[in-house]
Amino acid sequence: MLVSPSTPDAQQALERLSSLRQHQQDSRRSPHKPLLVLLALGRLAATGSSRLPWSEAEETLSNLIEEFGPTSQTGRSQSAAFPFTRLRSDGVWMLDRDVPMDNVGPLRQGVTGQFEASLEAALRDRPELLAAAARGLVESHFPGTVAPDVLVAVGLDPDLLEGSRPARDTSPADRRRSSTWPAAVIEAWDRQCAFCGFDGAAGGGVVGIEAAHVRWFKLGGPDDLDNGLALCSLHHKLFDRGMLGLDGDFAVVVSRRFSARTTQGRTVYDLHGQRLTPRPGTPLPAARHVRWHTDQVFQGQSLAS
Ligand SMILES: [Zn+2]
Repeated sequence: MLVSPSTPDAQQALERLSSLRQHQQDSRRSPHKPLLVLLALGRLAATGSSRLPWSEAEETLSNLIEEFGPTSQTGRSQSAAFPFTRLRSDGVWMLDRDVPMDNVGPLRQGVTGQFEASLEAALRDRPELLAAAARGLVESHFPGTVAPDVLVAVGLDPDLLEGSRPARDTSPADRRRSSTWPAAVIEAWDRQCAFCGFDGAAGGGVVGIEAAHVRWFKLGGPDDLDNGLALCSLHHKLFDRGMLGLDGDFAVVVSRRFSARTTQGRTVYDLHGQRLTPRPGTPLPAARHVRWHTDQVFQGQSLAS
């Protein structure tokens, strides 16, 4: 971390906090602990204290995990109880009662969680540390399309993503993004959205069209043509939020969790069942990347076709 806190204890606690960043070799997403930390950072920023009673976390943390985590068979409260109890072992989180790991029952007897004291003090006194911690966590677990949504959901300012960045990470697990990959993907898909065909252009360049990773770069997805789709900004966002996905036949699927009220919003449903049709020479996304997206990003069940 670039900015150094005042005390050695706080420095250690901050280092433990940054060790929650995703390891590139993990292919399964594990956003539970980071979401709890971000929720607590949001409370600390808003109220001056990260104190979080289970009675509130049971609802708010469950919602965050459901909205931004991979689909899971685990019950909502149970999903929240994992990070709420287990974050203690990372040395950054305390509960005001000694309760067993993972058990929802004892938590309901009025347990409150909070950052470890020296960490709490350092983050409260130095807003730039708090912002750097939030930025590091959210950026290592979510792509750029999703990170601002997560920050808003935990009550933090999405503009903190624009803040001064630490010098580039030099840990060996960090990978450089290819600077030519986005343009190559957009060109390969004939400068149009692979889902809806939107082909906005301005002065010869595309506008509103982006290169999307099928398997997220941050979760080990390569900058390869068979891990990329050109998508309009809207469909890129819906794809990364798991509202849209692909099935084994490379047809678009729409999540049952997606809803819209207006005719325009509901045009998203029309994408369901449409097969990708790349131009000759452009590879379809690799099946292993599509499977990763289905397991780790797509939200719940698709519409019946
Ligand atoms: Zn589109």
